[in-house]
Amino acid sequence: MKILVHICCAPDAVYFLKRLREDYSEAQIVGFFYDPNIHPYEEYKLRLVETQRACAELGVELHEGEYDMESWLEQVRGYEEEPERGKRCALCFDHRLLRSVQFAKEVGATHLTTTLLMSPKKEFLMLKESGHKVCQGSGVEFLPLDYRKGGGTQEMFRLSREMELYHQDYCGCIYGLFKQKKGEVQWDLVSFGRRPGSKEEILFIKELRLFAQRELFLPCKEWEFGFINWKLLSGKIEVGGQTLPSLVKPYSSSIRGVLKADPVERVGDIIYYSKGGLKVVLVEDLREDPPETFEGLCDPTFLVPRSFEDLLLKSRAVATLQTEITPDKSSLLLIGSIEAREILYLPADTSQDGRGLDLPWVQEVLSEERKAIVSEERAYLVVGAYTLGKAGLRYFQERTGRRAKPLLGSQSS
Ligand code: SF4
Repeated sequence: MKILVHICCAPDAVYFLKRLREDYSEAQIVGFFYDPNIHPYEEYKLRLVETQRACAELGVELHEGEYDMESWLEQVRGYEEEPERGKRCALCFDHRLLRSVQFAKEVGATHLTTTLLMSPKKEFLMLKESGHKVCQGSGVEFLPLDYRKGGGTQEMFRLSREMELYHQDYCGCIYGLFKQKKGEVQWDLVSFGRRPGSKEEILFIKELRLFAQRELFLPCKEWEFGFINWKLLSGKIEVGGQTLPSLVKPYSSSIRGVLKADPVERVGDIIYYSKGGLKVVLVEDLREDPPETFEGLCDPTFLVPRSFEDLLLKSRAVATLQTEITPDKSSLLLIGSIEAREILYLPADTSQDGRGLDLPWVQEVLSEERKAIVSEERAYLVVGAYTLGKAGLRYFQERTGRRAKPLLGSQSS
């Protein structure tokens, strides 16, 4: 007996696969991640990476299906406004299970099932009907397993917490995203890079964790923490009709509409303007260095190269700025032991100009350092929300009582 398991996400898969192995101990179990419904791509990748980690831990072979989002959108066309558990969901199940039964035949599986059956928010009978329908005449038998019963759902949550798996806050598709997600969705729909608290930042941490565990067999531990996030949507400062090269100081507040203001005073490197609290800080190098502390100051402030000093001092400035300041979540990842003699840290996020560490580079460092990590000579800490007052690093010190040193000389703890 060979069972192909269509997998929708890691939390739904862990307990389901564990039970399946117990109940079908003689069967060969193969996983198939086919979920072109998931939007945006970063969310898809995040769920895939976590499924890869869960399957690696459980010793289940996993295949990735195509991310053919267009075919999925075509399948549900006309049903965009349906509520969850409605007709769109039935079509979504059909689409994913139909491809799964084809794949089951390709790999010679005799049976098909899906971890969607584990999800507390899915209609069991709808899934059962879809599974039987797509398997009809295929020679593959559908297994409608109900592992939610008898405390299965609670056990699923317990296991996914224990494995520190990413837990999504909407079903997956773009229509569900608008209807089910609490709060703003613009940050999900547009990528602003690997900024603090972003999906890209979690993905970086999760990809490193997968690499450290699956390829290097290193122990990992994650912590989630809350912090005051600052997000930059857009910003521009013009003087004399010229847009100046600039960065925005973290925690700057928004400007309503377009602000036209004159320079009134210069104190040190700061030029103060006549309206809206506008400030310009003159800098040698246009780069954003993470502030040492959370200052609590939030006037709209641009960093501008000193070479524009004369122009700034004698002309009116025209500025626009859209930012958001909200409580948010980020994470820390420790690779190695908390008892290690020395802990080196590196940022997970990137600054607003996109500067940050590349995944392959960090993977190479970890590979070279594997021996030192195993012997507890060193451990590595990947710090989320670093560029905003080193928030993650502060949390680590508070939580563990350990101090970490910078991996790169230019950053100080
Ligand atoms: S809400 Fe979920 S099940 Fe329904 S169509 Fe969207 S992704 Fe598919």
